[in-house]
Amino acid sequence: MFKNLRTSTKLLLLCAAFVGAIALATYGLIKEKLIAIEFASKELVGAQYLQAMRGVYAVILAAAADGSPVVTSQQSADVALDALAAAEVATGGALGTAELAQALTAAVRALPSAATGDKRAAIVDALTKARDLASRVGDESKLTLDPELDSYYMQNILVKRMPELLADMGELQSLMQVAPIEEDLRVRGQLLDGMVHSIVEEIERDAAAASRGNRDGRLEASIGPAIGAMRPPVDSYLQAADASLSGKQNGTALVQTFQAAVNSVDQATIASQAELTRLLDKRLRNLLGNLYGSLLLNGVVAGLSLLFAALTYRQVVRPLGQLEGLADKVRETKDYGLRIDLDRTDEIGRLASAFNAMLEELAAAREREIADEARNAAMQAELARVARLTTMGEMAASIAHEINQPLASIVNNANAALRWLARQPPNFEEAEAALRRIANDGERGSRIIGSIRAMVKKGDRGRTKVSLNDLIEDVVRLTHSEFQRHGISLRSALADDLPSVMADRVQLQQVMLNLLMNAAEATLPVYDRARLVSVRSGEHDGRTALVEVEDSGTGIEPENAQRIFDAFFTTKAEGMGMGLSICRSIIESHGGRIVLLKGEPHGSVFQVILPTDSA
Ligand code: ADP
Repeated sequence: MFKNLRTSTKLLLLCAAFVGAIALATYGLIKEKLIAIEFASKELVGAQYLQAMRGVYAVILAAAADGSPVVTSQQSADVALDALAAAEVATGGALGTAELAQALTAAVRALPSAATGDKRAAIVDALTKARDLASRVGDESKLTLDPELDSYYMQNILVKRMPELLADMGELQSLMQVAPIEEDLRVRGQLLDGMVHSIVEEIERDAAAASRGNRDGRLEASIGPAIGAMRPPVDSYLQAADASLSGKQNGTALVQTFQAAVNSVDQATIASQAELTRLLDKRLRNLLGNLYGSLLLNGVVAGLSLLFAALTYRQVVRPLGQLEGLADKVRETKDYGLRIDLDRTDEIGRLASAFNAMLEELAAAREREIADEARNAAMQAELARVARLTTMGEMAASIAHEINQPLASIVNNANAALRWLARQPPNFEEAEAALRRIANDGERGSRIIGSIRAMVKKGDRGRTKVSLNDLIEDVVRLTHSEFQRHGISLRSALADDLPSVMADRVQLQQVMLNLLMNAAEATLPVYDRARLVSVRSGEHDGRTALVEVEDSGTGIEPENAQRIFDAFFTTKAEGMGMGLSICRSIIESHGGRIVLLKGEPHGSVFQVILPTDSA
């Protein structure tokens, strides 16, 4: 089915398939990029949520700093919790953090009202809830699945390490508010002391790993100082805490070092959050840039493809249509002078040239055909004239009859005139009338003879060199349709280099025509075998040429074989019996002879032997 479609339709299908493939690839690309963009955007939402938690930590840690029940103003707590609520709203519930945020809010609100004895527990509870919330934010915003090394370690610091550090520091500090410190609390305090120390180290390691994985090399500069600045105050605080745990340190120094340590952690957090946001922003920008770039590239490729398709249409489909139109026009008008004008050297151009050359060839062939037709017409006319000659015998018979009449009339009238003159007295009037009739009859006879002369006059022309093969081929061509009509096969086997003969071409044509037509007629009653006529030519004995006409027809009865060359011998109802007789006179007048042989196994063979030109 496809092969029968028009080329323009095929081209259209090709374009549609190509544009479809590009659209599909573009769709896949957009989808893939959008997933990555959505991923990074969600991480950004998480990072912003973590930023909003900073204020809440500040409130809790301020409460942990010393033993006073209200360590920070209600106003700053409200601001921090409002910021948290706003961050929660901003997520649109996408992170599933609403419950944890509420629990944290409740815990923070409960801090001022906590009894002095429960204060430590309230602070630890608030810090635990803050840590849980940070952890949930990290998981749900996919921050913890971050695919890049630098941002992965940055989120690890913010989602895991900082909340742990602040929780442990807050618990340690609140623990030391209890007085007197019991033994198990002391042990817990020392444990927390060690944990704070190791978390700071882990943060430093994470920061170093993030710097190593950072491609633009800006991370080290932006977080290094703040992270590095964290250790001295934290170490001072831990020393103060150690001293306090062993009862050597006063409370004021502890609170101051705690605040300094918390401050430094806060600064490191601020720097880390800024860096994480920068990295995520940058990744988003890159992804969007890549997406637009790819879209542009695909658009350009699709545009180029359509342009090529349009060019192909112009360069291939249109010229093909022109060729088709021209072919149709030539078929309708038979005007072989039409041409297509395509000045190109590619296949289409060559096709057009070949088409033009073919039209030229057709025009030339048509001219040859017209010339052939004219030649054939001339030959037919000539043959018709000869055919008239062949009826000469017939005419001779009727002439004999016609001439016989005036002669008989002359004799009768002469006798009558003699009788009128022999009368006594002689009747001159009647005698004169009889003589006038004699004169008329004589004139009639002379007119008849004159007309015979005029008819055969053309046969007197001179002889020329005649190629027997050409002559045979001409006659075969002439009889071709007649043979075909009766289902008779005609085979010719003509010898090369057959010497020519000096002959009257028209008379020899007449002989060949007669022999071929007789042979054809002889095969007509045959139904049980092939109707076959063969013509052969060849040299006979070095001085003569031989032409044989053989047929698979009825053959000739032996008793008739002697008579067939006689004038008026015929076995045909409509026959004249003059053909073979004239053939023989023509051949003999050329110094040749014509012979009949029996065909094997059927039919007859007529041999014509003529002296050659060189003889
Ligand atoms: P016509 O064809 O008018 O009879 P022809 O002189 O050409 O006059 O032929 C005389 C007769 O010779 C034919 O009537 C036919 O009986 C016989 N004859 C001629 N050619 C053949 C042939 N090839 N096969 C059989 N008989 C033939």
